[in-house]
Amino acid sequence: MVFDGHSDLLFDVTRRRLAGETRVLERCHLDRLRRGSVEGMVLSVWAEPADGRSYLERTEQIFSCARAEFAETPWLKTVRTAAEAEAAKREGKLYAFIGVEGMAAVGRDLSVIDRYADFGARMGMLTWNEENTLATGAKGDPQKGLTDLGKQAVRRMEALNMTVDVSHLNDGGFWDVMRLTHVPVIASHSNCRALCDVRRNLTDEQLRAVRDTGGLVGVNVYHAFVHAEPEKQTVEMLARHACHMAEVMGVEHVACGFDFCEYFGPGEDSAKGIDDCSKTAAFFEWLEKLGMEERERRMIARENLLRLLT
Ligand SMILES: [Zn+2]
Repeated sequence: MVFDGHSDLLFDVTRRRLAGETRVLERCHLDRLRRGSVEGMVLSVWAEPADGRSYLERTEQIFSCARAEFAETPWLKTVRTAAEAEAAKREGKLYAFIGVEGMAAVGRDLSVIDRYADFGARMGMLTWNEENTLATGAKGDPQKGLTDLGKQAVRRMEALNMTVDVSHLNDGGFWDVMRLTHVPVIASHSNCRALCDVRRNLTDEQLRAVRDTGGLVGVNVYHAFVHAEPEKQTVEMLARHACHMAEVMGVEHVACGFDFCEYFGPGEDSAKGIDDCSKTAAFFEWLEKLGMEERERRMIARENLLRLLT
């Protein structure tokens, strides 16, 4: 069974519900989730200004669409702890943690972070790829650190038991988080720069820094983060990222943050052989071929991430 540490399904839920659809997860996604043995996910709240709305208005739109959707999905339980997740699983339900992907909606008002927590968020990224009032994303100046407000945001997240997620953060912000925090940090959906040198991936030094917090890193299927050469953008190479992480950090710090995004449209392709969440088995088959034992594969599939979210 697989616990996927990064899913954008709430984007699809919001888009479709605003177009008048209902029971989106059940009609459009449940079958693939089941075929992929997905037992749980971290559903991310990713807000971008749309239809002239502000980041905050867009965030509230996602919250209300998600709440309406959850009310129609008795087979899915939103949870905040591993114990709640295990209980949901025993009841035969899928479980969903909530994550925040980019906090541009905060602006100058840190109390927005409390609203994320009220919605159920257990982890959050200060930025998506943009520069905002808190931090700079992977597409911005790599040197810029967190702003003073960004540093206060990290403290507020810690007080609310929200794990800081450093995926999408630039290098300067990454190292500021490492200096500031005393609790485990997650990079929910980032690969290794040693195998694919892009800013969204982590250097070996960064992997070790995440390990030293007691945190973990989730592998990401997005083709451009798997390898620079199109013919090597494969599920085998994705498994090689996981093996490299295990070598550098130890297998207990490796997880899944697949970030499947086939429903975003053309160009948003996954690595070959793992096109969507129904194909997760291919990743674990490659881990086995590359020498990972069953116990290690189980740790990567679900146990490591659940341990972080106790
Ligand atoms: Zn992302």
